[in-house]
Amino acid sequence: MILRKVPSASNCKGIMNMRQALHRFSLLVFGLSILLMGQPVWAGDALFQYSTIDALLAGLYDGDMTLKDLKFKGDFGLGTLNGIDGELVVLEGQAYHVAAGGKANIPADTEKIPFATVSFFQEDTILKLDKVVSLDALNAAVSKGLPSKNLFYAIRIDGRFSHIKARAIPKQNTPYKPLAEVVKEQHVVQFSGEGTLVGYYSPAFVKGVNVPGFHWHFLTKDRQGGGHVLDCAMAPTTARLDTLHDFTVRLPDDKIFDALDLSGDKTEELHSVEKDPMKKQ
Ligand code: ZN
Repeated sequence: MILRKVPSASNCKGIMNMRQALHRFSLLVFGLSILLMGQPVWAGDALFQYSTIDALLAGLYDGDMTLKDLKFKGDFGLGTLNGIDGELVVLEGQAYHVAAGGKANIPADTEKIPFATVSFFQEDTILKLDKVVSLDALNAAVSKGLPSKNLFYAIRIDGRFSHIKARAIPKQNTPYKPLAEVVKEQHVVQFSGEGTLVGYYSPAFVKGVNVPGFHWHFLTKDRQGGGHVLDCAMAPTTARLDTLHDFTVRLPDDKIFDALDLSGDKTEELHSVEKDPMKKQ
């Protein structure tokens, strides 16, 4: 007769230890898989930003982060290159540099940025848009559809544009002037046809850090042209929204940044930099 062996206390302990070891192993595999994927699991819900908009307004045009490192933080976004050389658009993991004059090219991964915001685009809301006649009308229409004004949103709009007015700032040389001065040198270009708007909505409370409200960059469908959007008009289309709950800012590792006086309110300067210079406000 075979008696079933009752596990001893030490055997129970052994089973527990084995379970713990298995659990730890599965956690290790999970952690490694995240590392190997090259992005954290919450990446689709996080906005990464390099430097602050007020540092850019103050003339800090040279950052220490490369495009290669920026692309680890997101596959969608906007910004500019060192020397405030034109406009940066990141779309579907590809970075595009729009030089003054509106022509887009693919920059080297070693290029650095003084300011940029990126995220991994995963749409979670779709907004239907009627015909849009101006940038103000676009902002009003998208604003109405935002689930909350207190969150960040990455916004992608693929559409047929009857009119896009876009700008790009020519590369600056040191000593750098403040952005409100430099922006007077911007080159304004008009586009029409199919293309993509890459934009962000940021809540009012990020004033000084990012651009409160909407910030749009544009790329033509053939990815040959684009810029920072000053005005637009488009046929009915849809806006794809990605709600972002996490917000990370990496500050420049730079003595110039350390010494900047960023205590003042630069709202007026930001407004003068963002607006269409031909438009009476
Ligand atoms: Zn811009």
